[in-house]
Amino acid sequence: MATAGAHDYNFNEMTYTPKATTFFLNTNDDAQAVTVRIYDAGKDGNMLKQIDLKRVKGSKNEWTGKVKGDLKGKFYTFDVKYNGAFMGETPGIFAKAVGVNGRRGAILDLAETNPEGWGQDARPAIALKDHVIYEMHHRDFSIARNVNLDPSVTVKRVSTEYPGKFLALTEPWAIGHLTDLGVNAVHVLPSYDYASIDETKLDQNRYNWGYDPLNYNVPEGGYSTNPYDPASRNREFKQMVQALHKAGIRVILDVVYNHTFNIDDGNFQRTCPGTFYRKNADGSWSNGSGCGNETASEQEIMRQFMLTSVKYWIDEYHIDGFRFDLMGVHDIETMNMIADLVHSIDPTMLVYGEGWSAGSCAYPGDRLAVKANVKQMPGIAAFSDDIRDALRGPWDGDDKAAFLGGLPGFEESIKFGIVGAIQHPQVNYSKVNYSKEPFALEPTQMISYVSCHDDMCLVDRLRASVPGVKGNDKELVKLDLLAQTAVFTSQGIPFMLSGEELLRDKKGVHNSFESPDSINRLDWNGKFKHPEVFNYYKDLIALRKHHQGFCLGSADLVRKHLEFLPGGDCLVAYRLKNLSQVGDTWNNIIVILNGNKEKRTVKLPKSTYTIVGDGDVINENGLYTIPTDEIIVPARSAIIMHD
Ligand code: CA
Repeated sequence: MATAGAHDYNFNEMTYTPKATTFFLNTNDDAQAVTVRIYDAGKDGNMLKQIDLKRVKGSKNEWTGKVKGDLKGKFYTFDVKYNGAFMGETPGIFAKAVGVNGRRGAILDLAETNPEGWGQDARPAIALKDHVIYEMHHRDFSIARNVNLDPSVTVKRVSTEYPGKFLALTEPWAIGHLTDLGVNAVHVLPSYDYASIDETKLDQNRYNWGYDPLNYNVPEGGYSTNPYDPASRNREFKQMVQALHKAGIRVILDVVYNHTFNIDDGNFQRTCPGTFYRKNADGSWSNGSGCGNETASEQEIMRQFMLTSVKYWIDEYHIDGFRFDLMGVHDIETMNMIADLVHSIDPTMLVYGEGWSAGSCAYPGDRLAVKANVKQMPGIAAFSDDIRDALRGPWDGDDKAAFLGGLPGFEESIKFGIVGAIQHPQVNYSKVNYSKEPFALEPTQMISYVSCHDDMCLVDRLRASVPGVKGNDKELVKLDLLAQTAVFTSQGIPFMLSGEELLRDKKGVHNSFESPDSINRLDWNGKFKHPEVFNYYKDLIALRKHHQGFCLGSADLVRKHLEFLPGGDCLVAYRLKNLSQVGDTWNNIIVILNGNKEKRTVKLPKSTYTIVGDGDVINENGLYTIPTDEIIVPARSAIIMHD
């Protein structure tokens, strides 16, 4: 796994057997001592034992020691001495189980956290190009399941036993919702142990997205039924994965290796001071994450840490894919090594990330895993802010609109997104909003989306940016459906924020990372108040799944089968042609996106067309059939038809 000649790091910091527990730690070469303390509790309690690890013979940076006896159920910390002073207790950098709040490692037999049938758990078979991603936060999804937020809705719902927990996703109502919608990959927001929620005070009902990593290789305690019991979070996370897998749904983990909660109290710094972070030329910490620090993936120990961690989540928790937060902070070489590792296990696993950073990084820009360098990372996909902002408006102003607001000038950016960010002869790249050239070699390297947890959700953005939409749900819904039609008919990998199918809003809050439940929770009444929205999303996803034309999966096929038809201002039309060659039951499909406030007439190749989408509903069996060489596209609508 390591580069030739490099040191191979061992991250097995605690190995339990009933006879003895062995401890091991990597430090910097100048460490002077490593102490291990054994406790009877994950927090407070009594210290039972203290031992000094010994430097491994012939090594400068490896320390080990053994404690005899059966320590199962006990907890441990390391404490490393540099320059005559101890750094402070840490569970190490690679704890696999922890006590409440993650400050002590837990001694347990990991095999005992496997749920029944775990050995038979299998990754659902889904081709890379066929993923349909649903991005969700555990607490958003289920915290208000049992609350009727609108007494005018009288439909009785199945309630959850586990509001805000991993286990909510094992319940039939949750699985049923996802399978009914048709998504086949759930991308869970940070689910490793993060720092900002006090697990001893869960009754305070605090909320956080979790982009503040504490222990990268342990599930978050706040999402478990008992954060004091180390086995609980590990087992319940596995139960969640198992239930989703049984339903044919993959689980993608949001991984945030680019920064840690903080430096000084952090596990990296207490173990190997300085080594895991980048510094500026003046010696200060670089802050490319915008969160106060930036890790150094190009450092051999950090690189191997990331590789080992990714493999661990696949092996131990059966994770099916990874979303890299601020991937642009990491170096290209490390990201390619990760993609190679993941794809050596299963080539259909998705690896994608945000192709940007949140500040300048102390590393050469041409070696960072940013969107413009995705062509150097053939196994990796990046979010397309190009199509996102061409639809909803730019990131730097919630009140600014674009295509959905009826503004001209975004057509080439929409086309860029439709082809999946690849080279296509009919896209004028000089007119694309951000990428002035294709960033993807293959369409599966582009994540197609209009909203995610960041920024306003789609409903709030439409209300804030398009005049006349606030207070007019009819117009809101039309634009919402138009937006998702562009996303889900794109040749990139489609991605949606959880709750958009319920017409969720966040009361206009732009950055809800620590907003209360009243902002972030899904209102399950949405399904009954706006069934037309849920049904459209569901039928749109089914349409994509049933027709190869929408997910051709290769750049050559996209160039061969996708041609744009003459459009106009805020009007994009394209034809997927000769699809019988790729096994589609429809030979030619035409999609027309009209962002204008008025209807438009579009010229077509003369044929007899069956209309399957009229902007309000999708019906694969056909809404009506007409012989014609033109069609009138209603205002703010998408037409989908075939012949
Ligand atoms: Ca935590």
